[in-house]
Amino acid sequence: MEKICVAVRVRPSANEESVNGFHWKVESNRISLHRSHGTPISGVSFAFDHVFDQECSNARVYELLTKDIIGAAVEGFNGTAFAYGQTSSGKTFTMNGSENDPGIIHRAVKDIFAKIQKTSDREFLIRVSYMEIYNEDINDLFAVENQKLQIHESLERGVFVAGLREEIVNSADQVLNLIQLGEANRHFGDTNMNARSSRSHTIFRMVIESKAKDKKSGESSGSDDAIRVSVLLKLERGVRLKEGKHINKSLMILGNVINKLSGAESKELHWYIQIHVEETKGTLQFASRAKRITNCVQVNEHGLYLVKFSFFYKEDIDR
Ligand code: ADP
Ligand code: MG
Repeated sequence: MEKICVAVRVRPSANEESVNGFHWKVESNRISLHRSHGTPISGVSFAFDHVFDQECSNARVYELLTKDIIGAAVEGFNGTAFAYGQTSSGKTFTMNGSENDPGIIHRAVKDIFAKIQKTSDREFLIRVSYMEIYNEDINDLFAVENQKLQIHESLERGVFVAGLREEIVNSADQVLNLIQLGEANRHFGDTNMNARSSRSHTIFRMVIESKAKDKKSGESSGSDDAIRVSVLLKLERGVRLKEGKHINKSLMILGNVINKLSGAESKELHWYIQIHVEETKGTLQFASRAKRITNCVQVNEHGLYLVKFSFFYKEDIDR
């Protein structure tokens, strides 16, 4: 599996065919801008690992983008699913889903516990935490009193958010209930929902620890090399154009946090667009550069590529 997979999902639009005389055309894994009467706009054509059209279900997005990451996480590899796009482009729709077509998170959580159930030769300990980065503050979504938390580093724990509540979980339903609780605790200080969603980034983190069971007794074996720890992150990030320095700064902080918490092993980035020509073009350019950058720096242990994200974000989108 490729280390990083970048996909674009096109949201259905209210006024179908074209907006302002343009439309986006999806052909296989390529998306390009055309005039309504059909001529392509030169230079506005991008290829990704996948391009999902309006008809695509959350089930299919999960199948193609996230399922492998989940399988690998249970086996001890880190992974990240990252939704990016301007407000109203469909991040929440994809991550949270609907009753008929549950989103990525629901499917991932169910899958993790199903896989664990089948892994009878290992013993698992699963911990979850949920935080919000609002402007420059890190707040705990499981415990409202834990606000403005600090990032620390220690020999035993590596990099961590001090004071962040971690819940030990045993079932998919328990995790889904906790996420719901966390959602309810998100920052509602801004009366303007757009402003809120572009300033508020959330990080849901799940640490999966497992130990080989002793074959004879069925108890944990003592050997250290049998311990595997993996971290799964779910991120959702809204974008509004021209929001200025603040967003860039919080994106930078977000980038740093992702890097540190994920061990820079992000396997997946996930981009969403809608038919807003300029913004979408910006998002696509950003997304395809992200892929090139990450390919070129090869996701090393310092996670350089995420630092570069914020750099290119500034250059490409916040004009
Ligand atoms: P975001 O979280 O990026 O701000 P939302 O997920 O809230 O955007 O989507 C905005 C609106 O568009 C919602 O009403 C949502 O139900 C709808 N929507 C988004 N993506 C799709 C899709 N693929 N199919 C159908 N409706 C969608
Ligand atoms: Mg949203």
